[in-house]
Amino acid sequence: MPVPLLDLKAQYQSIKHEIEPVLLRVADSQYFILGPDVTALEENIAAYVGAKHAIGVSSGTDALLLAMMALEIGPGDGVIVPTFSFFATAGAVSRLGATPIFVDIDPATYNIAPAAIAEAYEKYKSTVTIKAIIPVHLFGQSADMDPIMDFAGAHNLYVIEDAAQAIGTQYKDGRSVGSIGTVGCFSFFPSKNLGAFGDGGIITTNDGTLAKRIELLRMHGAEKRYYHEMIGGNFRIDALQAAVLNVKLPHLNAWHEGRRRNAALYNRLFTEAGVVGDGKVIVPESVYEVKRETLDVERGEGSEVAFPHIYNQYCIRVQNRDGLMEHLAASGIGCAVYYPVPFHQQKCFAGLPSCADAFPVSDQVCESIIALPVYPELTPEMIAEVANCVLDFVGRS
Ligand SMILES: *Cc1c(COP(=O)(O)O)cnc(C)c1O
Repeated sequence: MPVPLLDLKAQYQSIKHEIEPVLLRVADSQYFILGPDVTALEENIAAYVGAKHAIGVSSGTDALLLAMMALEIGPGDGVIVPTFSFFATAGAVSRLGATPIFVDIDPATYNIAPAAIAEAYEKYKSTVTIKAIIPVHLFGQSADMDPIMDFAGAHNLYVIEDAAQAIGTQYKDGRSVGSIGTVGCFSFFPSKNLGAFGDGGIITTNDGTLAKRIELLRMHGAEKRYYHEMIGGNFRIDALQAAVLNVKLPHLNAWHEGRRRNAALYNRLFTEAGVVGDGKVIVPESVYEVKRETLDVERGEGSEVAFPHIYNQYCIRVQNRDGLMEHLAASGIGCAVYYPVPFHQQKCFAGLPSCADAFPVSDQVCESIIALPVYPELTPEMIAEVANCVLDFVGRS
């Protein structure tokens, strides 16, 4: 039985009856840019994330770019980023003329290593004005925010959470990612847990002044139309995307729950086969226990459930990763590598001072990591099929 990496049609079938009337309503209204659907989305996401403000934008990449524009990050500034993430995390920094400073990750979570932040800060503070840290909540698990926030507070740095893969993820204290740092940046790219029918994103913040600046910059920096106080851009989200997302949001916790159930089944199958114990397969670790009583009761369907990991990706590590990829592909099983090349080895970043540093964890992870299908509509039989295919290749213990 072939199993794709992601099957968006399966999700669409389950909510088609709710989505279709909304698409037609937007078509009838011919109101396409911002407007009431976007305002509703902003209120809904702010409530879901537990942040005071949310500003809908054109993509997750633009969320990062716009957040940093609003924080006036530019030439001469440095921004600390993990070397292991999706390209946009570092690309947005460079596009503003600022310098990304790459640091290594934690081997258990694949998120930025707090100790590496302090080290890089000391090393580069005399060559650039370090203004911010971008923790990425990779694959759907929170970065370790307490030490990051402490360090940022002590050194007067902004914390820009790249929460593109982690909408609804909670840190160990129960707070949702995107409500902890200066700003949170989310993506509604179709493959994220909350995906639109195209590109989209949102920025969350508890800072009202910053929210206002972001809103102005989203529309060319004009409070009053054609009178520009700042140089912004077109970073708007469409009404159609917002309308779709408003329909999907009440289902999100149930989808998170499905992904978690699937991840738990994989972990159990690999553990029972003995390949976890002997290190042939390294399964993802959900390192935080989120206490149920800390949860916000307004999170809707499934709100009694805590989400320390939402498994936007379920990634394992194996020794012969490229061999496993070929084996899975030959068996009709979808898989992908997030990410094969760390930032410090990207051609476009060659010459940046931090590229010369050592990143042993990231280097090793890039060579061994592979994502397996984990989308909520998978059946236990499909999971077993994928797990068996992996076990056939790595050898049962
Ligand atoms: C998807 C993603 C982005 C970019 O989001 P887009 O909506 O595709 O622009 C940024 N950072 C991370 C970690 C992502 O996974």
